[in-house]
Amino acid sequence: MTQNYRITLLPGDGIGPEIMAIAVDVLNLVAEQFNFSVTFQEALIGGASIDATGDPLTAEALHRCRQSDAVLLAAIGGYKWDSLPREKRPETGLLGLRAGLNLFANLRPATILPQLVGASSLKPEIVDGVDIMVVRELTGGVYFGQPKGIFETETGEKRGVNTMAYNQSEIDRIGRVAFETARKRGGKLCSVDKANVLDVSQLWRDRMTQLAAEYPDVELSHLYVDNAAMQLVRWPKQFDTIVTGNLFGDILSDAAAMLTGSIGMLPSASLGESGPGLFEPVHGSAPDIAGEDKANPLAQVLSAAMMLRYGLDQPQAADKIEQAVLAVLDAGYRTGDIMSEGMKLLGCRAMGNALLEALKE
Ligand code: NAD
Repeated sequence: MTQNYRITLLPGDGIGPEIMAIAVDVLNLVAEQFNFSVTFQEALIGGASIDATGDPLTAEALHRCRQSDAVLLAAIGGYKWDSLPREKRPETGLLGLRAGLNLFANLRPATILPQLVGASSLKPEIVDGVDIMVVRELTGGVYFGQPKGIFETETGEKRGVNTMAYNQSEIDRIGRVAFETARKRGGKLCSVDKANVLDVSQLWRDRMTQLAAEYPDVELSHLYVDNAAMQLVRWPKQFDTIVTGNLFGDILSDAAAMLTGSIGMLPSASLGESGPGLFEPVHGSAPDIAGEDKANPLAQVLSAAMMLRYGLDQPQAADKIEQAVLAVLDAGYRTGDIMSEGMKLLGCRAMGNALLEALKE
């Protein structure tokens, strides 16, 4: 019997609907080619949801997401909603979605495509061939640990407090995702912590070392976060998969992403223990170019490829999409954000059509 996947689409705001339309066409085509089927249902999130319901994520939209096999999001936000109170802002919808799906593992690849080496701010010989996956813990650590808040001391002085804490089980579950991810990639995992200073990091390091025994095919190393930041810009090619906590991962994944120099090319995945994963581009809703057919749809399409690989276990279809992206770049097609001399400038729709042609070859 043909496998059918139920996918909830969240086009969101700004360029979201434009880039989502391309990803849907691509998914329909690879489904046909790889003999599975996809059923799409749409739901509202962010500004689009605020306009329709007054709420950035309704219980009904979250319910739809929970009932599906995977959730594909484009982007949320825009000037129109910037001055609303925090609980009514588009970002609150996104945080609610992540929490509602219990997505504790965030996977952010930073891959330098040979065609775009020149887009990086680092020298080509440093970045050429870089292919890193940052696995970040997303629901624990210092962003959520208790106590937190701004308190008053006995002397009446204000004191800001956050707590960096991880339970062994939280470390183990992100560790397992990271070892499994490294196993599917180059077989090398670097765990990043601050174990020379922080007790929570010492536990992190102990658990990662312990887990390594279950994955003899993965080579584990450890780095302190300050050194990891330095190594990322000194010689990024030494990294394959990186695993780290929420705060360090927030910073290192952005630094790794910028090695590539092109925000319109970067996908991401967020996974839970069970239930659907969330797949979305790293970039925002680009309100400055929304509705102008100028958006780069490739990060959205690569997010769909991550969905096939990590969410739906269709790695061959994912490979095919990634190869098609390379093929259109090889053919010299570029959207405005990655344009360089001698290349052919395309709009969002035309880039989508070029991708569909490449997929048919
Ligand atoms: P942004 O990523 O939307 O845009 C930054 C710059 O990159 C802009 O010049 C934009 O035109 C360009 N850009 C981004 N994606 C592009 C693409 N696919 N193709 C071509 N160019 C692209 O970030 P921002 O301007 O800081 O934020 C705009 C809105 O997006 C804000 O409301 C912000 O809150 C929201 N945002 C949402 C997410 C998300 O949905 N996950 C992430 C970041 C920002």
